Amino acid sequence: MDCRGLIEKLDAEKQLGFAEWVTLLSSYTPADRLFAAEKAALIAQKHYGRKVFIRGIVEFSNVCSNDCFYCGIRKSNTLVQRYNMSDDLIVECCRTGWQNNIKTFVLQSGEVGCCADRLGNLVRRLKRDFPGCAVTLSLGELSMTEYKLLREAGADRYLLRHETSDEEHYRKMHPEYMSLSNRMECLRNLKSLGYQTGCGIMTGSPFQTPQTLAKDMLFMHGLQPEMVGIGPFIPHKDTLFASYPAGSVEQTLMLLSLTRIMLEKVLLPATTALGSLKSGGRVLGIQAGANVIMPNLTPKDVQNNYLLYNNKLSADKPLAEAVKALSEELNTIGYAFEFSRGDWSEKTC
Ligand code: SAH
Repeated sequence: MDCRGLIEKLDAEKQLGFAEWVTLLSSYTPADRLFAAEKAALIAQKHYGRKVFIRGIVEFSNVCSNDCFYCGIRKSNTLVQRYNMSDDLIVECCRTGWQNNIKTFVLQSGEVGCCADRLGNLVRRLKRDFPGCAVTLSLGELSMTEYKLLREAGADRYLLRHETSDEEHYRKMHPEYMSLSNRMECLRNLKSLGYQTGCGIMTGSPFQTPQTLAKDMLFMHGLQPEMVGIGPFIPHKDTLFASYPAGSVEQTLMLLSLTRIMLEKVLLPATTALGSLKSGGRVLGIQAGANVIMPNLTPKDVQNNYLLYNNKLSADKPLAEAVKALSEELNTIGYAFEFSRGDWSEKTC
């Protein structure tokens, strides 16, 4: 079957076999990519209208005990100035978001460990101060007990990209003591606790192949995540992967489209990394089937120490202006922000 046929089959059956994925991912043309994007955008519109959910992200700490080879804030990067924002400052950042109608707060950090009690209290505080808000956490791999505590504190969603579904590929990107099986178990634990759960990958990460990507698509089909984060790998100069090339905008768009076609209602951000690689990249992401954008609520001076990769897009204007500018960009392609919480739901609009 040719690529167009495979895209049609994915749309009809919501899955492909391993060999079919490899064929599609290794031989699609720019025309096939546009074909997939058109289908994906229509599916997103069927479920969500021409609307894009807005989430505010607070990168509250870059302290990390892990050493992922690709990541700029890995623990062995001694050039990073480490920070851990106070609860008061985090709440203030969220307040700025709230005042701009943002109702989901994404709290992201390095792997700080032993933070569940603190974070639990913070989640409760956010829920009290901003009634009706949703809280998404992205704190890496924690124990079941910690995930449970945070869920009971009121956290609604959790983002934990699996990074790759291929054992050998995983080994090439992470130190010995980290394991793919633990990451996958974390994802299953999160699901079982009732979190809206997000997995995901970097496109074009070093050693990624059509085969590893095929495994990612099969893994995602099995997990049925409510959210999927897909952004291009971008090198950071102080990491082991400093000299590897960045992923491409085109491949990222293709994977966004295929993910939308496979997991119809998935909440799919047009990521900061995509916007960092190409100006207007996030709008292209929306046109390829993404339906979430996450403006950064982290104070500007702090953001500069949360560089997972170089040339990261950073806020150059106050939030209200940034939201307005993004809004206008969306309007030019006939989309608009949707300011509700934007949960994954069985319902279709
Ligand atoms: N500590 C948390 C949050 C990690 S940062 C966790 O482990 O989940 C969020 C995501 O940024 C990572 O999952 C990874 O996919 C992405 N990322 C890290 N380094 C990157 C790089 N060099 N280029 C692009 N994305 C990167």
